[in-house]
Amino acid sequence: MAIRNILHDDDPLLKKKSRPVTDYNDRLHTLLDDMRETLLTANGVGLAAPQVGVLRRVVLVVDTNKEDLSPEEQIIELINPEIIAASGEQVGAEGCLSIPGVYGIVKRPDLVKVRAFDRHGKPFEAWGTGLTARAFCHEIDHLNGILFTSLADEILTPEQLEEMYGDDEEDGAEE
Ligand code: ZN
Repeated sequence: MAIRNILHDDDPLLKKKSRPVTDYNDRLHTLLDDMRETLLTANGVGLAAPQVGVLRRVVLVVDTNKEDLSPEEQIIELINPEIIAASGEQVGAEGCLSIPGVYGIVKRPDLVKVRAFDRHGKPFEAWGTGLTARAFCHEIDHLNGILFTSLADEILTPEQLEEMYGDDEEDGAEE
């Protein structure tokens, strides 16, 4: 496994649409393993392949609802993910590993159900609420070249962010 370089928002690759995965081969597994290590090291809640410069429909989401699991075990690998149901609404601060230090207020559904394939090409469904639902939306947006800053109603100043979160551990949830 290797830590890959995370692209920043001035990189044109982040605005491109990613292509579906067709081969569930060693190359995909290496990408997934590297993305896992990169995500854990960056302490984020999600990572999409285009963020490491690979324009393929691959994302990782940390299922923070599963509190009894370790961060490593919380990671869900989603290949060719699609949102199949969404309900409710949450309005909250969102950040991105590709746009360090910037947070904005983004409206997202509160419950999201996705269909995807695992690393061996087996289909499965997953769902999440709260931060996990937000991460599913945020990561799948990356596959379509969409960054949260283009969806944000408001970009927070450092003072506003401090006011909202203080020194709370939640501060810094970046995807
Ligand atoms: Zn992001």
